[in-house]
Amino acid sequence: MPSLGKRSREKRDQCEVELQGVLDEAINHFDFSVICGFRGREEQEQAFAEGNSNARWGQSKHNVSPSRAFDIIPYPLGFAAEDEAFYEMATHVLGAASKRGVRLRWGGHFRSLKDLAHFELIGNQ
Ligand SMILES: [Zn+2]
Repeated sequence: MPSLGKRSREKRDQCEVELQGVLDEAINHFDFSVICGFRGREEQEQAFAEGNSNARWGQSKHNVSPSRAFDIIPYPLGFAAEDEAFYEMATHVLGAASKRGVRLRWGGHFRSLKDLAHFELIGNQ
């Protein structure tokens, strides 16, 4: 059974406890790496400048602590992974969220700048 590596666990621990539960559940069904939990000011502005995020500092759910969003990528594939692996991963993550009663929005469903790695809490839950 897959499990989160050390770096992934560090990123997971930066997230809201509901999100941690979703990650811990989903990893039992699909292997992935957590590449972002909380994102600081400098990191957020850099992501914006590089076109990896459409949010400025303070506009992203990654910018609060604990983080209300996480980014994950299929393991062992990297960013070059085919979209298909991301879609399969999202199915497992959204399934884990629904099982736990956590309302989660996937970046793959964003209308502008689809972000297949991104998941965030909806509203103020
Ligand atoms: Zn993100």
